[in-house]
Amino acid sequence: MTPLRVIVVGAGISGLAFAYRIQNLAAKAGRTLDLTLLEASGHVGGVIRSARFDDCLLETGPDCWAGNKPAGMELCRELGLEPELIGTRAGVRRSFILHRGTLKRLPEGFFLISPMSVRALLATPLLSVAGKLRMGLELLVPRRTDDADESLAHFVRRRFGHEALARIAQPMVAGIYTADPEKLSLQATFPQFLQMERDHGSVIRALRRKAAQEARGAVSTGGEVSRAAGPRYGMFVTLKQGMSTLTNALAAVLPPNALRVNCPVASARREAGAWRVRLGDGDELACDLLCLALPAHASARLLAGFAPAAAGALGEFEYAGAAVVNFVFRREQIAHAMDGIGAVIPSVEKRRLVAFSFSSVKFEGRAPEGKVVLRAFMGGALQPEVAALAPAELQKVALEELRDLVGIRGEPEFALAGAHNRAMAQYHVGHLARVQAARRAVGALAGLSVIGNAFDGVGIPDCIRGANEAAQSAMQAAPAPVM
Ligand SMILES: Cc1cc2nc3c(=O)[nH]c(=O)nc-3n(C[C@H](O)[C@H](O)[C@H](O)COP(=O)(O)OP(=O)(O)OC[C@H]3O[C@@H](n4cnc5c(N)ncnc54)[C@H](O)[C@@H]3O)c2cc1C
Repeated sequence: MTPLRVIVVGAGISGLAFAYRIQNLAAKAGRTLDLTLLEASGHVGGVIRSARFDDCLLETGPDCWAGNKPAGMELCRELGLEPELIGTRAGVRRSFILHRGTLKRLPEGFFLISPMSVRALLATPLLSVAGKLRMGLELLVPRRTDDADESLAHFVRRRFGHEALARIAQPMVAGIYTADPEKLSLQATFPQFLQMERDHGSVIRALRRKAAQEARGAVSTGGEVSRAAGPRYGMFVTLKQGMSTLTNALAAVLPPNALRVNCPVASARREAGAWRVRLGDGDELACDLLCLALPAHASARLLAGFAPAAAGALGEFEYAGAAVVNFVFRREQIAHAMDGIGAVIPSVEKRRLVAFSFSSVKFEGRAPEGKVVLRAFMGGALQPEVAALAPAELQKVALEELRDLVGIRGEPEFALAGAHNRAMAQYHVGHLARVQAARRAVGALAGLSVIGNAFDGVGIPDCIRGANEAAQSAMQAAPAPVM
């Protein structure tokens, strides 16, 4: 029986998860597989990269994922990584927000962008009296009747007022989507708020009802609403030895010699019933199934010469850069009590940080006693000039900002920056229509899958789910074996 030839391009979490899943599906179907995973860089994991300095664990990309989305947890279970999973440290699941130059506790009783009760609204120190009044008037704002997509900023201003957008909603979502809220599609990112408006005429009213139902045990949402306090830190998980544990485990179960690093792909075309992948060095490889697991702009580039319609549709997704700087300090160098996970910084504060974490407080095992790992998150759509800085400059800027925010004395023992150029897909207004158009154009090309963080969500579990579904569809459409 001829083996099914599969090439995956890009060894980030999307490509690795696809390669893993298609191996399993082929084995179940009794098909032999000739699998190749081509990665341009020398690193496996894409933006995921854990590093060590002495006994400290640093993450220069993502540091955790949402455990309430099943795909990430299921994959860890399948790979035998369940004992390695840890949640945020109990007892410190609170965070801060910068308000007029001072770090304030994120208010209790808020669900991301909305208060859940009038009491929570009155108690927040983040809004002026006029801002609170306007936010409370949300209960009276008539529901919108048309279905057109709108930006998060438009929705929040319309329902809660300008101050709520600038002081609460913008910083809350910036850390997730690195996005400009004026462009961020509500339908594609927070459809639950639209639904609440539609069903209850008010987000605050919907949240109050949900919380009351939860309290009565009438609905089971895992306490999502009643225990909410800003970002729901209790639901974030990571791996004891770092995020790279997951990507390394996926690489380890690839067939021998399947993974080829330092192997950029220059273009792809379909010819005589097979895909032909041209490598940077001019060599060509052929396969039956091709999976491009790249930022959409990179997939567009590979297809441009052969499939301009698909390339055009993929090129429609905008991307932003993001950067992470990790610092190692001695505990006594930091004045802040570090009695929380970290902070988000509203853009109206005019700082060059989007957020920062006390990483060694957030997760156990990140630093030995007496040491601290601090992590700054920078760039995003609102500060593209920051994301583009060279690593030394990133460290300098991050240190200047953190010095002021948490009171740092002296120099860090170690610093490590990770810059990710055009790595974060931007879910702009009209995103769902763009996804549909791209899927249609790619679907017209037999044997091709295109995955990555432009389609099903930017988070790691979203990328894994997208990879699982694509592998399933690819196997179903795979050419029958020739005996
Ligand atoms: C700084 C940062 C922090 C984040 N934090 C979180 C978080 O805490 N939690 C969370 O859930 N998500 C987070 N995300 C989002 C999430 O990490 C990403 O969406 C996800 O990891 C993307 O994975 P991917 O495999 O699709 O793409 P990538 O990781 O970008 O991988 C693509 C791979 O393709 C390779 N490649 C590119 N071009 C070619 C080519 N021509 N030929 C061959 N190979 C090529 C690249 O070298 C790369 O290895 C974060 C993202 C960033 C950038």
